[in-house]
Amino acid sequence: MNKVAFVDLYQQHQAIEEELVEVFRRVLRKSSFILGPEVVGFEQEFASYVGASECIAVNNGTTALQLVLAALGIGPGDEVITVANTFIATAEAISAVGARPVFVDVDPVSYTMDPQLVEAAITRNTKAVLPVHLYGQAADVDALLEIARRHNLYLIEDACQAHGATYKGRKVGALGVAGCFSFYPGKNLGCLGEGGAVITNDPELAQRMRMLRDHGSIKKYEHSLPGYNFRLEGLQGGFLSVKLRHLDRWNARRREVAKLYQELLSETSLGLPVEMGWGEHVYHLYVIQADDREALRQALGAGGIECGLHYPVPLHLQAAYADLGYEKGRFPVSEHLSSHILSLPMHPYITDEEVKRVASVLLETLQCQSNQQTVTS
Ligand SMILES: *Cc1c(COP(=O)(O)O)cnc(C)c1O
Repeated sequence: MNKVAFVDLYQQHQAIEEELVEVFRRVLRKSSFILGPEVVGFEQEFASYVGASECIAVNNGTTALQLVLAALGIGPGDEVITVANTFIATAEAISAVGARPVFVDVDPVSYTMDPQLVEAAITRNTKAVLPVHLYGQAADVDALLEIARRHNLYLIEDACQAHGATYKGRKVGALGVAGCFSFYPGKNLGCLGEGGAVITNDPELAQRMRMLRDHGSIKKYEHSLPGYNFRLEGLQGGFLSVKLRHLDRWNARRREVAKLYQELLSETSLGLPVEMGWGEHVYHLYVIQADDREALRQALGAGGIECGLHYPVPLHLQAAYADLGYEKGRFPVSEHLSSHILSLPMHPYITDEEVKRVASVLLETLQCQSNQQTVTS
């Protein structure tokens, strides 16, 4: 029996192999290995795709977040509010500039930052609010922007899982002061290695980020301030330009796959993703909730179907953040999710047959469970 892959990068790249090899030849002949014309070209294309004026390409999504925070002057003594239910990189970027991550819980329906909890987390030291457009769906940006404006805070978007997702008709990434993307290979837009980018409409902030990205320098060996080496490779810029042209088609297929899962699983006890009325979900991940997650995970594994957990331990309970002093029970929604969620195979090249196979394993397992309950009750 063939495996059903969680993500299939091989098929995605096979379909565009010639175009990618052509990028390699071009960069090889020009020896433009770091930044250079391929990166500049991609920056222009991606800024215009998101609908913003500036894009600063960097070497991954974590450094994209760090770059924004550093360029805004956020550092030791400052606090940044983010969510407990995200990948650790969101919080690590805050730690990397010496600031303190302050967690809030997520909304149980959208799985994104609950705006109602933000105000209580604001202190004199708060500088920014950093929501995550989790699993491919926008957070409730307007509600968060309203709070941020009232308290004079920056709103920075972690859009690392949401390339092409929209909020009230606009693409995420340029809704606050800046938005950060990751091009890790498995993301909706991924390069063939590490990559990331910051999007903004603020030209001065963009200029500061361009300097900080490259050792605090615009002109070689003239350093205005101590910066970093967060540069993107030329090859990755070229690969990203090729792949960006396919992003909308890939996202449309992801939405089709989500619709099929929804149709096949809607009559079950499973909690399915809810599309909020405010925008278009791009399904970086298809995350369901189940009462007995482990039984489903085992059954899928036995059927050769790969699945994932995003995320099994919320950030406030990670050893890395033990020193922040959060206790178990503090963020009930994030904690509940961590033990009930399951990410099903989701990528643009999954076939309808594969989706049906995943659904039928889930349906059979749930049926067995309910039969057992009837017998024992
Ligand atoms: C992937 C991801 C990141 C980090 O991106 P890298 O390119 O792996 O550094 C940050 N935040 C979220 C929510 C992510 O999913």
